Amino acid sequence: SAVLYIVPTPIGNLDDITTRSLQVLSDVDLIACEDTRHSHRLLDHYSIKTALTALHEHNERGKADWLVQQLSEGKNIALISDAGTPLISDPGYHLVNRVREAGFRVVPLPGACAAITALSASGLPTDDFRFIGFLPAKSGQRKKVLQNLSSETSTLIFYESPHRILDSLTDVLDVLSDREAVLARELTKTFETFVTGAVSELIGALEEDTNQQRGEMVLMVKGIDKQAVTTELADLDTMIMASLKYL
Ligand code: SAM
Repeated sequence: SAVLYIVPTPIGNLDDITTRSLQVLSDVDLIACEDTRHSHRLLDHYSIKTALTALHEHNERGKADWLVQQLSEGKNIALISDAGTPLISDPGYHLVNRVREAGFRVVPLPGACAAITALSASGLPTDDFRFIGFLPAKSGQRKKVLQNLSSETSTLIFYESPHRILDSLTDVLDVLSDREAVLARELTKTFETFVTGAVSELIGALEEDTNQQRGEMVLMVKGIDKQAVTTELADLDTMIMASLKYL
């Protein structure tokens, strides 16, 4: 029976797509994408002529039903997004959910993802990390999210937009304190840059050279020391034991 393929596309450098991904994109009957004009340009580059249909935030639920219908008519479908891996801060969750519920196979292809690409070269711990994606746009809500992450020991990975990066770094400094952090910009592109240092140093570097505020970016912040958490818990334990004695 028909299959839904999840196909990653490049995050900048157009050579970053696998031969299998190109094969699947050529072979399927239909490609669901976020923006048909954007994806037309991409597919033109690889001379792929498969028909496109738009699936985005605003029509995903309705479109998912229609795509399940297409699968039941025997049509194979590929899902792509504007860049990188679909469903990672991109549409596709409802579709995958619906397609699995309807009993069709969902086949994922490996490929580019900004978060993993950034993390792999960051120099921050990679054994344990947590992907957060985009922080809320409003400072109050952003601080609340950060507050909930304040005792996280995993490396934290955020997606951020150029016009919010300074505000977000300021809130990170405020809520998470002056931790080690890395800003990975323009990955796989001409001006790929890693800005590293304490959060306050990142703020300084971005204020000094406003070019560093431009482009696409992944912000990574070190988690708190596991040691610190263990000590905190041990202290708590001692306190509880001490107060129990008086009961
Ligand atoms: N699905 C994509 C993925 O797998 O990485 C992410 C899509 S999300 C809408 C777009 C965000 O990903 C950007 O705002 C930026 O934070 C990050 N991003 C995408 N491409 C990037 C690149 N070349 N360099 C740095 N960050 C990138």
